[in-house]
Amino acid sequence: MKCKKCNKTAIHFQPYSGAHLCGFHLIEDIERKVKHTIRQHSMVGRNDTIAVALSGGKDSSVLLYLMHKLFHQRPDITIIAISIDEGISGYRAGTLEHAKELTQKLGVEHIIANFKDEYGTTLDEIVAKGGEKGPCSYCGALRKHLLNKTARESGATRLAVGHNLDDEAQTVMMNLLRGDVERLVRMSPGCVQPGLILRSKPLRDIPEKEVALYALQKGLPVDFSECPYAYSAIRGEVRDMLNDFEVRHPGTKYSVLRSQDKLAEPLRHSFPQAVLNQCSICGEPTAGDTCQSCKLLGRKD
Ligand code: SF4
Ligand SMILES: [Zn+2]
Ligand SMILES: [Zn+2]
Repeated sequence: MKCKKCNKTAIHFQPYSGAHLCGFHLIEDIERKVKHTIRQHSMVGRNDTIAVALSGGKDSSVLLYLMHKLFHQRPDITIIAISIDEGISGYRAGTLEHAKELTQKLGVEHIIANFKDEYGTTLDEIVAKGGEKGPCSYCGALRKHLLNKTARESGATRLAVGHNLDDEAQTVMMNLLRGDVERLVRMSPGCVQPGLILRSKPLRDIPEKEVALYALQKGLPVDFSECPYAYSAIRGEVRDMLNDFEVRHPGTKYSVLRSQDKLAEPLRHSFPQAVLNQCSICGEPTAGDTCQSCKLLGRKD
């Protein structure tokens, strides 16, 4: 099959657009969409220092590569990378090696923060103790906390994360299935709050498969291994359901994401953003008295 835009052999078919694309035109299409997403949601402003959360996996590696490509010639914009080492043996060391290789190749400053130094414990140790919640609940909350803190202390004004279209559509559906409209609204960035770095998701309009193809086409050093704790029954079911719908009704994932965009704006008034305080234990921003990380770790005043 030939590419829709030139005579070369296509490497990818986009069922949602009906287009067969060669490697060159797939890259061009992805970069055009990412630029549009960044503009549409004002994800980059003048004099920004953008910290890219870099795990070494395909999504965050593509995100860092793209942000560097799009902005490294802007003298007022700085791109840095932040990786979090949660302490997951047999997994994180490998992905961090890929992250280091990529940042060195691009000449991007790379900061690595780890759970052990910040919290005095690794994720493996938390799991071994048998916490009340699953590993991902601890990991997600503690990583978010540490990413925000590290980004702020590095002088970053924004934090870009590598969530792709599939991740976002799954999260929208999961929030709907749980009836959690507040979280659905919170998926869109809120307003600037003291101590909290605004997060953005420049890959939200790129299907997961295309992110992987981008990484392969560009020959990025990417780790495709999976975290040993990665198991969420409900996310797996939602992913299968959306993939099944996407095959039979191309464009479903985009429709799900657009619904979230349309719902979030008017519903924002029903769920006003809480004014954040400083956690009484660690000083990080939180809606209550004690932040989620301190609660999970059982820290006391
Ligand atoms: S799968 Fe869960 S435990 Fe593993 S890195 Fe992701 S959030 Fe952390
Ligand atoms: Zn082409
Ligand atoms: Zn705290």
